[in-house]
Amino acid sequence: MSNIYQIAIDGSSGSGKSTLAKGVSKKLGIMYLDTGAMYRTCGVAAIKKGIDPKDADKVKELLSETKIEVKFINGEQHMILNGEDVTGIIRTGEVSMAASSISAHPFVREEMVRMQRAIAADQSFVLDGRDIGSKVLPDAKYKFFLTASSEKRAERRLLELEAKGDKSQTYEEVLKDIIQRDKQDSERAASPLIKVDDAIEINTDNIGIEETLETLLGYIKE
Ligand code: C5P
Repeated sequence: MSNIYQIAIDGSSGSGKSTLAKGVSKKLGIMYLDTGAMYRTCGVAAIKKGIDPKDADKVKELLSETKIEVKFINGEQHMILNGEDVTGIIRTGEVSMAASSISAHPFVREEMVRMQRAIAADQSFVLDGRDIGSKVLPDAKYKFFLTASSEKRAERRLLELEAKGDKSQTYEEVLKDIIQRDKQDSERAASPLIKVDDAIEINTDNIGIEETLETLLGYIKE
């Protein structure tokens, strides 16, 4: 029996996925793959070329001439777009919206899912995203589904942006983006955001990150 296992953490934006996934990765000494960063990189590719991320034909053509790579440097995930490290520019509001639109195309998802499975095949990984438990790794050993109100998530996203010195969006704008992305992510035909039956649901509205992490680790140790 191989000792390799995977942990899937799904949920909407701002539900606390990435902070928790990082915590799990550190505590258990396993790798962390942020799959949202991959769709964000597709979004950056579209923005750089001035392509509408909703235009399937243009996006198909774009993808065929675009090279997206995930590299782990000192354990940290870096996103490489046509040889350029774009990790530092994928977290803006504009990129979030582009990522949400571009990720609705089934051919984009197929390629990203193929890469994600290949990355997580040889080592233990925690992955976070929208479709990890339902589509990418339906046999993951542990599956979690995080939820939180849109207002709480907007507050968190705003704090994250502010911590990076990004004051480009107001609370109202962040909230509006979150609601629109939720709608796009849960209503798309290809791998919409859904909780699968065997995922453990955790609402993070009223519990801090440390407590949520302990809860998650509690399930994993069981
Ligand atoms: O998680 P994050 O907010 O960084 O993801 C950016 C966008 O990428 C999401 O709004 C979603 O549309 C898309 N995404 C996805 N499937 C994943 C991860 C992210 O569709 N597994």
